[in-house]
Amino acid sequence: VSLRDEVTDLLQRLIRLDTVNPPGNETPAAELLREYLEANGVRCDLYARTDDRANLVARLGNGDGPKLALLSHTDTVLADAEEWERGPWSGDIVDGEVWGRGALDMKGQVAASAVAIASLAREGFEPNGELIFAATADEEVGELPDDYGLSWLVRTHPEVMRCDFALNEGGGDRLLVGGRPVWLCSTAEKASMELRLRVRGRSGHGSQPSVADNALVKAAPLILRLAELRDAPRLQQESAALLELLTGRVPRAEEALEVARSIDPYVAALVEASLAFTVAPTMITASKKRNVIPGLAEVVVDTRLLPEQTQAEAEQRIREQLGPGDYDLEWTEPQGGTRSPAEGALWEALRGWVDEADPGAILAPQCLSGFTDSHWLRAAYGTVAYGFFPMRGMAPEAASRLVHSADERVPVDDLELGVRFLRDASVALLS
Ligand SMILES: [Zn+2]
Repeated sequence: VSLRDEVTDLLQRLIRLDTVNPPGNETPAAELLREYLEANGVRCDLYARTDDRANLVARLGNGDGPKLALLSHTDTVLADAEEWERGPWSGDIVDGEVWGRGALDMKGQVAASAVAIASLAREGFEPNGELIFAATADEEVGELPDDYGLSWLVRTHPEVMRCDFALNEGGGDRLLVGGRPVWLCSTAEKASMELRLRVRGRSGHGSQPSVADNALVKAAPLILRLAELRDAPRLQQESAALLELLTGRVPRAEEALEVARSIDPYVAALVEASLAFTVAPTMITASKKRNVIPGLAEVVVDTRLLPEQTQAEAEQRIREQLGPGDYDLEWTEPQGGTRSPAEGALWEALRGWVDEADPGAILAPQCLSGFTDSHWLRAAYGTVAYGFFPMRGMAPEAASRLVHSADERVPVDDLELGVRFLRDASVALLS
């Protein structure tokens, strides 16, 4: 059996296990992977906070050298079969693509990582150090402290996932910029947090609005001011490196977006997302009855800070924007906001792979606007964690439309490319 057929078959079997989170039910996926890996001589352990939410960790080697983790998650977001052309849990192959929920996010990479470590074990590869494969639960929901996946594993079994390097989801897009291929590797991510804006008034009867002080009406101009908030641009090191690779110079922060737009719309979107913190009002609650004027309105604001940016700094800017008024602000703990350097042994291994697989191509870092499990490893162990799973068969714009959406599918060519990349990177780093 070729690696291509092996990874395709394993992905089909993973897709056919419904691991929509909530409720997750990832244990059958962990069991399937354990059976496959143990048959190839890779030792495995399952770690579960409750029986139906198992995380699998497999290991090869035991030397004193570096430890590299191939990290992935087995849960998926939900799928509405009505919206799909084929069953979301069919695992059908059509025109060289495997269909199903999780094909891109991220059972394809789960399968490719498992085949990479299994095939290396079969061939007798003995890492200098350790190659770890982790297929974890609960990435799509996982809110502290009610978590079942990597954050729980790191907190309760701190030695299991200790590693120097990790390869996870979140990057590996290939762009063509002026005819030149550019591979993007996610080395950083913004922090995600919730801001609550509480606006106070005085409740009253709906029939006499002039007597009351309507908190919902008072919230309206504040929401508009939040929507107009644009913090001063700050060029993150990832965008600086990307633009320097593409243009030969680092622009000033104020001109970075314009420079990026002149290059490519996708590059512009990347640069724009990491120039400043953002706020997006997404939920509101006020009165529960039509005839009661609310004395309190609460607005939930999705807030994304730059890596290493403090909440206090963002709050000051938000208060300036809102001005004085009858409101207060409350924050939840931030998640994410960590970065790894785009240099060192793992970076060189990636660059070496890109040079060989795609001569003349550029490897560039990127800062994600979203949040991935790489954060838990960076925060706990100082792991150099990158998001990189190479995609050549499907354009990044097409892939990003399908993730968390209907008709998700992955080209078999990209599964095979992923296996080859993960094997090559593991051997380069651990030989
Ligand atoms: Zn994912």
